[in-house]
Amino acid sequence: MLYPSGFIEELKARNPIENVISRYVELKRAGSNMVGLCPFHSERTPSFTVFQDDFHCFGCSAGGDVITFVMRMENLEYRDAVAYLADRCGSGRELIGYFPKSRTDARAQLCHEQDSRKSIL
Ligand SMILES: [Zn+2]
Repeated sequence: MLYPSGFIEELKARNPIENVISRYVELKRAGSNMVGLCPFHSERTPSFTVFQDDFHCFGCSAGGDVITFVMRMENLEYRDAVAYLADRCGSGRELIGYFPKSRTDARAQLCHEQDSRKSIL
């Protein structure tokens, strides 16, 4: 399945990798990176690193972006991981069908719920 250009970027922007990963891994800030114990192999000292939009484990060489992380953690196909992230930001799977029609409107709606919840907090 092909997504309209900008969709994946928007999805990633709305699902910061640190937020998504910190649901599974306790991350600690280390300089400009975040580090934690790798969820993909057993370790006692953190070699799992999150930097910018990607993660990398120096222990088992796991790595990728937020979509790759969800695929591996939840054992999902690519498109299901995308749907998972679309669901996560509160707009539901219909977003994927809706997005190509009117990108501007969809952008405004994308994760609107989550944003308003955030601003209340
Ligand atoms: Zn690892």
